[in-house]
Amino acid sequence: MNGDELPEYRVVRSKRRTLELRLHPDHSLEVRAPRRIRDADIRAFVASRRDWIARRLREMPVPAPAPRLVDGAGHLFLGRRIPLRILSESRNSIHFGNDAIEIRLPEPHSEERVARVLEEGYRRQARSRMADWIDLHFPWFRARGHECPRLRVKKMKTRWGSLSTRGYINLNMALMKVAPECAEYVVVHELCHLEEANHGPGFQRLMDLHLPDWRTRRDQLNQSPLQ
Ligand SMILES: [Zn+2]
Repeated sequence: MNGDELPEYRVVRSKRRTLELRLHPDHSLEVRAPRRIRDADIRAFVASRRDWIARRLREMPVPAPAPRLVDGAGHLFLGRRIPLRILSESRNSIHFGNDAIEIRLPEPHSEERVARVLEEGYRRQARSRMADWIDLHFPWFRARGHECPRLRVKKMKTRWGSLSTRGYINLNMALMKVAPECAEYVVVHELCHLEEANHGPGFQRLMDLHLPDWRTRRDQLNQSPLQ
């Protein structure tokens, strides 16, 4: 990135007033923009942030290729990389142990079938762990008159979580790959949106109240490998 050359970026327009840059773990760059802003203004905005983008890219972990879905390949679980153990059994099952992720399934052990069992395992783990963190942090919000949002675990490409106005807390299944304190941070972040729609000073005060070290957790999350 030098001279007049700009990094590649995609533009997502929505009902918002300001421009925002997002760098994703795969190093892709996204500009969130108001609906009616001109392309030239978006380009100028990206150009004005060129140094910042270059610096952030240098700090971010290099995206790794996805690990294979074969016996012995290392996969992330709760922030640690542990090997898959693939065993033959008539029924599918998965167990996340301390030293291995044990997957049992009938032969042949095609990567596609292993992927399905692994994904279902991550999903079940996410449902149960996220529900526990919601139970842990929700009482304060209940006392403020909020209804407990219903949990939905999803595969999401560009966000860790969101809180819908229709009463759902959506959390990314990939949070099972990062350290538990980072996943908990996302749960608390979304719960705080029950009180505060944006990320202003009121929101930050709430985060300070519920999770005093949230900034450290957020930074750790942003640096976490996902593959
Ligand atoms: Zn938020």
